[in-house]
Amino acid sequence: MLDKNQDYFLKIQSHDSKLNTLRSYAEEHKVPIVDQLSLDLILQLIRMKQPKNILEIGCAIGYSSMHFASVHPSIHVTTIERNAEMITLAKENFKTFDFENQIRLIEADALEAYSAVNDRHYDMIFIDAAKAQSQKFFELYQDLLSENGIIITDNVLYHGFVSDIEIVRSRNVKQMVKKVQKFNEWLVQQKTFTTNFVNMDDGLAISIKEHSHD
Ligand code: SAH
Ligand code: MG
Repeated sequence: MLDKNQDYFLKIQSHDSKLNTLRSYAEEHKVPIVDQLSLDLILQLIRMKQPKNILEIGCAIGYSSMHFASVHPSIHVTTIERNAEMITLAKENFKTFDFENQIRLIEADALEAYSAVNDRHYDMIFIDAAKAQSQKFFELYQDLLSENGIIITDNVLYHGFVSDIEIVRSRNVKQMVKKVQKFNEWLVQQKTFTTNFVNMDDGLAISIKEHSHD
C-alpha cells in the first residue's frame, strides 16, 4: 500500500545488500516476500532479542530466512515450505549465498511438519504462509516457543482488506480475510501472549509469550 511516510523512510535508506537482489527477483516473479520496512523491524527485534533458534512457516525463495540468519552467525533458522518450485529456488539460494549451515529447510506442509521441527525450542517464530491458516500454525507451534519467546505474524492487515472487508468482491478472498480478522481477535484474547499490532506495510502482529503475574 502506498504511504508517503513509509516511502520517505525507504528513500533515505539504502537497501542494496547482496541478499536484496532477490527482492527484485521476487517482485518480477510475484513471490510475496516480506515488505522492506517490516523486515527491517524484524531484524531489529532479532538484534535486540538475540534468538538462537528461529522457526519460519513459509520459506518461499529463502529471502526472509537468509536475512534472519545474516544478523549473526550463531543464529539457526528452521524454515518450512511445501511448494516444490519454491523449495528448489530456496535450496539454490541457500547455496549461492552460503547459508546451508545456518538454515535447514523442511520440505512439507506446515500443518504436518511438527514432528520434523520439534527437536528444539525456538526463541522466535515467524508465521508467513497461507493467511487463512495463521491461527492454526500459531496453535500448532506455540508450545515450541521458549519462555519469553516471540511469534511474529505477517500480513495481518492483508492488502487493507482486513479493516475494510466490504471492498472485497471475490468470495474466496472474503473467506480468507474473515479468517485473518478472526485470528487477530483471537490473538488479543490469548492470556499467555501479549500482542502488539503494527500498522506498517501489510500489517505485523508481534506476540510475546509471558507468564501471568497473578
Ligand atoms: N517468508 C517469505 C515469504 C513466504 S511467501 C519471505 O518473506 O521471504 C508464503 C510461502 O508459504 C509460499 O511459498 C507458500 O508456498 C508457502 N506456504 C503456504 N502455505 C503453506 C503450508 N501450509 N505449508 C508450507 N508452506 C506453505
Ligand atoms: Mg508475508
